Amino acid sequence: MTRHALVALIISALVVAAPLAQKNAPAKPGGNAKLDALKQEAVADVESRTQFAQQMVDQIFSYGELGFQEFETNRYLIDILKKNGFAVQEGIAGIPTAFMATWGSGKPVIALGSDIDCIPQASQKPAVAWHEPMIEGAPGHGEGHNSGQAVNITAALAVKKIMEREKLPGTIRIWTGTAEELVGTKAYFVRAGFFKDVDIALFTHVGENLDVSWGERAGNGLVSVQYSFVGETAHAAANPWRGRSALDAVELMDIGWNFRREHLRLSQRSHNVITDGGDQPNVVPRTASVWYYFRETDYPHIKELWETGDTMAKAAAMMAGVDLLPTKVLGSAWPQHFNKVVAETTWANIQKVGLPQWSDEDQQLAKALQKELKNPRAEGLRTKLSDGLQGPVRENTGGGSDDIGDISWNVPTVTLRYPSNIPGLPGHNWANAISMATPIAHKGVIAGAKVQAMTLLDLVSRPELVEQAWKYFKDVQTKETKYEALIRPEDTPAIWLNKATMDKYRPEMKKYYYDPSRFKNYLEQLNIKYPTVRSTTTQ
Ligand SMILES: [Zn+2]
Repeated sequence: MTRHALVALIISALVVAAPLAQKNAPAKPGGNAKLDALKQEAVADVESRTQFAQQMVDQIFSYGELGFQEFETNRYLIDILKKNGFAVQEGIAGIPTAFMATWGSGKPVIALGSDIDCIPQASQKPAVAWHEPMIEGAPGHGEGHNSGQAVNITAALAVKKIMEREKLPGTIRIWTGTAEELVGTKAYFVRAGFFKDVDIALFTHVGENLDVSWGERAGNGLVSVQYSFVGETAHAAANPWRGRSALDAVELMDIGWNFRREHLRLSQRSHNVITDGGDQPNVVPRTASVWYYFRETDYPHIKELWETGDTMAKAAAMMAGVDLLPTKVLGSAWPQHFNKVVAETTWANIQKVGLPQWSDEDQQLAKALQKELKNPRAEGLRTKLSDGLQGPVRENTGGGSDDIGDISWNVPTVTLRYPSNIPGLPGHNWANAISMATPIAHKGVIAGAKVQAMTLLDLVSRPELVEQAWKYFKDVQTKETKYEALIRPEDTPAIWLNKATMDKYRPEMKKYYYDPSRFKNYLEQLNIKYPTVRSTTTQ
């Protein structure tokens, strides 16, 4: 570390520490009594909305919609929000399945967001502790994005009631993390100005525990790029010399990339799928496309990886004697950085709420699934909060991405994780869908909604928190790193993605949409016993 950097670090530590020392000082007797009473009331109100939240979780689970095709989910959420007094802007930023809902007026403006899309090939019967698709090959909520909106909306309605009665100024926004699995939208929301007047963004995502963190989060940002090549068809046996294969360019690019992989930083992740590999073997493929994710820990390294990819594509086109079309960016995500002040506020509320009371059945399902996946430590669901608030990652060795990163570099942001899923699962997999329409998900959502409601009340009642959050954002987080979008001016949201897949499966999936007017919960509708575990795992 240089002396300059050390001095900067000390200054930034002082800047952050000063208001926090103040905040951590013992409250004056009766000082926060009113706020505490309002929080208790909000917690009780959230509890009373248990059925409302459960229905939302189960309904969205049953829709199982892939990114950019969340039409049922979108309509359903918009209807709920309108019914509850929110004004809704639909189809924002050129994305038909995205909305921004608003209630209230004045400052602070708090934006509550969560993802809504699901995972290809993750169709799964809930509460059944082995792989059993509802519909073979169909998408399903193999990440648990069916639950986050219930956290936010339940919390928002509880707090709205209190704000109305107490005449507290403030604006609540609710928005959708549309197509998060494609990291497809949040940079466009930023570009379209939807976070310009937002004071704090409270994001929420399913997890295995109730927690929050601040600073740089482990994982990567990314850019998602499609490379399309055009050659010429010919009879592949009679006149192969007349043709030029676009598929050759795709394969050459992939071979080149895999050689280069050895010489890339350890923190990078890169992977691809061939979305067009030609039509049939006896016709030289005129068109072919390959879709890459380039992941790195910071903006300059993402750009560098992307440039390397572009070079490979151009070189592959030259080798194959075909043309490379202008590239398409299908998604992007900045690495995530969360706000210290908002994380501390959230963490204090997490400690008050604590983890849900799991039933024997909940634990039985969790342990049976862990055993099914040959998880050596089938420890069931979490029963303890983490030891303390998690700070910045010490050594970022790379990993997953979430385009909440783009929001987090524009507005003080945190992601609240709530315990609706089972620990030790692979992610993006049928196993991650199993708990997501069961009491585990429902209880996790209620715990999350209680925290979110309390944090909302903190933010609307204590303007100094918003001020301190921005101080951290300006003086520490963005002191040296400035946000520059990864999407280029010519890029537009990739709203055509997943349409063909949803068109194929939706008619069959419709038969299984949850009908809360007839069934208490989705398991009852599907006639699934809770939990359904192998007899050998029950002793
Ligand atoms: Zn996710």
